[in-house]
Order: sequence, then structure tokens, then C-alpha cells
Amino acid sequence: MATALVLEEKGKLSLRDFPLAQEMGPDDVRVAIHTVGVCGSDVHYYTHGKIGQFIVNEPMILGHEAAGVVVGTGANVTHLKAGDRVCMEPGIPNPTSRASKLGIYNVDPAVTFWATPPVHGCLTPEVIHPAAYTYRLPDTVSFAEGAMVEPFAIGMQSALRAGIRPGDIGIVTGAGPIGMMTALAALAGGCAKVFVADLAQPKLDIIGRYDGIETINITEQPAAEAIAEATGGWGADVVFECSGAAPAILGLPALARPGGAVVLVGMPVDPVPVDIVGLQAKELRIETVFRYANIYDRAIALIGAGKVDLKPLISATLPFERSIEAFDRAVEARPTDVKIQIELPQG
Ligand code: ZN
Repeated sequence: MATALVLEEKGKLSLRDFPLAQEMGPDDVRVAIHTVGVCGSDVHYYTHGKIGQFIVNEPMILGHEAAGVVVGTGANVTHLKAGDRVCMEPGIPNPTSRASKLGIYNVDPAVTFWATPPVHGCLTPEVIHPAAYTYRLPDTVSFAEGAMVEPFAIGMQSALRAGIRPGDIGIVTGAGPIGMMTALAALAGGCAKVFVADLAQPKLDIIGRYDGIETINITEQPAAEAIAEATGGWGADVVFECSGAAPAILGLPALARPGGAVVLVGMPVDPVPVDIVGLQAKELRIETVFRYANIYDRAIALIGAGKVDLKPLISATLPFERSIEAFDRAVEARPTDVKIQIELPQG
């Protein structure tokens, strides 16, 4: 028995003892969880009880953005030892699956992912995890930053998908946490400048503080107009759609330069119309992103080298015993909040 933050059913959280039958295999590590970020998907399960075909039918532990300390290792584990500070990939693929062999384990149909029904998450003091998906943090990366690696990895996957070339001009539509991290990953990936468009000024103020970011408040000026002004009517080399909002998706062709790339990162709740001819007329390359694969090492390296600073995106840190309050605050979706984290008691 261990205490866990349990989503009992839609709209009902409790912090209670939860029986978890976990056995450590020879390729696993046991990790004492230190910090967990509250993610939009956790919040969506809390408020809606489901995401697409994933439905919460029985009590489930939430949380999938985690950093902690190794407290035990299986017999075959050589790259980690007790005391190592680590972060974990929440998705566990089947290593022998066809998708894994192709290096696209993020789209392995058999992947099990923390806090995606029926798989439990990590808002509990200890987890057992495959060592292959557990990554040591350099001394320069805090637990808080370690717990930011998971959402940042989506930004990194997006930047890689875009095929950024040095000096590219980028634009991100949607300044949620993923939009912000995509913008920072695009800068780290070589963009000379990244525009971020949203309608919430407080969010734009947060991301606008970074060098290389320019913000567009779409309640004041359409994003396409701002991009046209900034690029002499040519358009952005790489466009990242991170809002999932229908009007933004319909407006994508107007943002890109001829022959540019459009990366679909945000997930609309329902199917939305797409301007196919607009995309064709500029022969835009369309890329899609679902989570990430083989990205964590790169993400940790960038953060550790000080090339990407995610600390300003951490808005609040609450102790484990106030987890429900942390989730209720995330539900409020204050425009001044980016990432809320929960810290577990140590020792
Ligand atoms: Zn997440």
C-alpha cells in the first residue's frame, strides 16, 4: 500500500492508500518520485473522464511527467545506480514490436502509457520502470526541470519533424504549455526567430520574455497579417499548429511560405475542416506529431547545457498533500499559469 493521487471517476479525486502490485524485473529500476508536472491530459481525464477511446472505468493514479531518484536496480541494469537523479519516459513500448524496430515506438499500438486507462500514473511515492526508458539527469538539471522533459520532448519532436534549417523563421499558433515548449525547441533547433500567436495576452507575456520570440495577439491583428508584414509577404518557413483550434487549422496555409512545412501538434477534440487546396497551392509539407520517440537524451542535453531554460514556465509548486488543490487550480486554467508541479515528500 502506498498513498496515491487517484482519479476515482470523472470529477472525483482522492489522495488515499492504493494497492499496487508491482514487481521489479531484471531490466527495471525502482524510482522514488520527487516532482510530477500536472498535464493537460491529466486534467482532461479529471474533468471529462475520458480522452477519445481511452475511458476511465476504474480508479486510476494520475501523473506522467516525473523526475525522481533511483532507489533500486534490477540485475541486468548497468547504466543506472541507486542515488541517480532521473526522469522517465511515461510510455513503455514493446521492445520487439514492429514499431519499436522502426524507431517509431511512440506509435506502437501496444504501448502502455502512464495515466492512460487502464495504466496507472506516477503520482505516488515510488514506481517501477524499465531502465531503458529512465534517463539520468546531469547536476545542472533540477528535479523540477527533469519533470519538464516530458512536455518539452513533444516540442523537440515537433522541431525535428519540421526539419528546421539554420535561420528559419517559425510560427507557433497556440501559447499553451506545448506551444511554448515547441517555440523554445524550434529556437534551439536553429530558427532565427519564432512568432507565437494566441489570444491570451498573459500567456504571450510569459513566452515573449525569451530572446528570439515575438508574440502576436490575434485579437489585435490576424496572425497571417503579422507574418506577412514580418517576412515581406513571403511567409514562415515552419508553422507549428499547437492550439487544436479549428480557425487556426483552417488558417495554416496563409502563414507558411511556398514550399514551407506545417507541423500539426495540437489535437482538436473533434474532426475539423482543413484547407487542402490552400496547402497544395504552396506545396506545403505536412507533418504530424504524436508524443515522441528517441528524444529524451537530446532534450536533457539541451536543458543541461543551458540552451533551453524551462524554469520560467513553472508557475507553481505544491506539496503532494495538496495535489487535489493543484489539479483544481489547473482546471481553472489561469492564463498566467503554464505548468503546475507537485513535489513528493523525500526520505
Ligand atoms: Zn504531459
